Amino acid sequence: MRHVDAGSCNGCEHELGAVTGVYYDLQQYGLDVVASPRHADVLLVTGAVTTRMAGPLQAAYAAMPEPRLVAALGDCALGRGVLGTASELAGPLDGLLPVDLRIPGCPPAPAVIAEHLVAALRDRAAGS
Ligand code: SF4
Repeated sequence: MRHVDAGSCNGCEHELGAVTGVYYDLQQYGLDVVASPRHADVLLVTGAVTTRMAGPLQAAYAAMPEPRLVAALGDCALGRGVLGTASELAGPLDGLLPVDLRIPGCPPAPAVIAEHLVAALRDRAAGS
């Protein structure tokens, strides 16, 4: 997964950090955060997508090999109006990129993040 903070308060990043830590250990399921979008098949987006981050976000998506998924992590990425004003935002995310996975919460709890990501991995392995 390539994570892009597209304008968050850092709360979602805090919980994402917990998911990849020793307690939840997301890596045991074959999932991890990588540094380059070229090495990722999931674009994991946090934040409300500010006008300045819309371009870098779309560039990261364009750099990813197919097949690729987009995951919206948190209520801001889901366009629920938690942060920002209309003039500051290019979002909602699903107006810019095709969102495959929606993880609600402000912020979502680590267990919820892990549950959604592992379920998506299982669905993908099953071909659905
Ligand atoms: S959903 Fe909540 S915790 Fe996550 S970036 Fe938005 S305000 Fe912060």
